Amino acid sequence: MLVMKFGGSILNGSSDFIDICDYIREFGFNGDLVVVISAMRGVTDSLLKLCGLAASGDELNASKLLMDLEDRHLRVCEELDLACEDVRKEFEKLERIVRGIIYLGELSPRVRDLVASFGENFSGRILSSLLRSKGVNSRFMTGGEAGIVTDNSYGNANPLLRATRVYLRTRLMPLLGDTLPVVAGFSGMTLDGKVTTMGRGGSDLTAVLVGSSLNADEVWLWTDVDGFMTADPRIVRDAKLLKRISYAEAIEMAHFGAKRMNPKFLDPAMMTDTPVRVRNFRNRVCEGTLISREGSKGVVKALGMRRGVSILTVRGTGTIGRPGSAYMLFRELSERSINVQMISQSISESDISMVLDSRVAERARGTIEAKLLGPIFREVFLERDCAAVAAIGSGMRGTPGVAARVFKAVASKGINVKMIAQGSSELSISFVVSGEEGEEAVRSLHDEFELSKIED
Ligand code: ASP
Ligand code: MG
Repeated sequence: MLVMKFGGSILNGSSDFIDICDYIREFGFNGDLVVVISAMRGVTDSLLKLCGLAASGDELNASKLLMDLEDRHLRVCEELDLACEDVRKEFEKLERIVRGIIYLGELSPRVRDLVASFGENFSGRILSSLLRSKGVNSRFMTGGEAGIVTDNSYGNANPLLRATRVYLRTRLMPLLGDTLPVVAGFSGMTLDGKVTTMGRGGSDLTAVLVGSSLNADEVWLWTDVDGFMTADPRIVRDAKLLKRISYAEAIEMAHFGAKRMNPKFLDPAMMTDTPVRVRNFRNRVCEGTLISREGSKGVVKALGMRRGVSILTVRGTGTIGRPGSAYMLFRELSERSINVQMISQSISESDISMVLDSRVAERARGTIEAKLLGPIFREVFLERDCAAVAAIGSGMRGTPGVAARVFKAVASKGINVKMIAQGSSELSISFVVSGEEGEEAVRSLHDEFELSKIED
């Protein structure tokens, strides 16, 4: 049994729905497939924008955006020769909600989730109708209808795994055999029936929840890239596709490269050992990247880089041997919703360095200066325009000499390393260099570990 998820990046117009429908029919649907679908490209962004416009009382632009969205979807229905009464009805419902937001001038997180969930309902209803019009007995279900139960952390809801698995099984299993369920990705439902969304990119999580609950052989995430690469091909020309990686490696790699994924989807897959395959719908001869427990050999398998980061260093002898000094620091940042990407503290405890997105770095420095400078923290420095590089591969665990090779390769290009971090899980080594030298550092490591010759 397989679960296939079709991502928003491959859903732009009516021809994409035709391609997907044809593919499903050719693939030979015989009752052992569940389809999960994302919103059409850009639709979730538009829905979130719509919420903002409505909440600020901008009725004119909210109506315009709503109309654009409706036109876009109804045009697809028309081009596919589908009546799509249900899509029209969904738009009526959405319009009433938007009017309500405008009228009240208020937008709660719960209502924002409800609005955001519409994108998948539109695309899912369209695909399911198209399949039916071609003789495939298909049925559309929202995430909640299919059985995805979540907590009420609106905007980033967490599935309640035990209940979700039971519900998904009891609702989907009886359909298999003669019905092809098309499940809306991204959304779920609280136990008291409120619609939630599970964070951006959440359709991957939907697919994996379904796959792991129904004991699928594999979950295929269809997208517009071949899979995970040894490096971003825009930086390293001979970057290679990785055929097999482990769950842990995928979590490390998800933030980098041409295709960013929300790694949340890997947790339930890991728990049940469900293999997940990332595949390119525009290049179907390619088998993509298989993510499973095993992964492949090789110490360093992939390189990632983050541009536009800054290093913030806080120094002061008062932190030495004082429990809670790091806590004080990070609490101030967390209260201002400033995300910390990388942390390092030397054993002397006299300074703590962290990597932040440059866009928030100045604000972080201001906060620390205003709130913390004194007897404990004496000085704070900011180094702007840096790049953070990560060398990733679970094979480095317990293998001596990997760090030596990493830093020797970088040094041989005359690149200075400003900061280093490695967690004791030994899945990756991260370091920071100047913004201009980031790409060169990535290329030097790609050569050192001969990643263009990677086989598996
Ligand atoms: N439509 C949602 C988003 O754009 C979920 C998804 O596509 O996975 O984030
Ligand atoms: Mg998307």
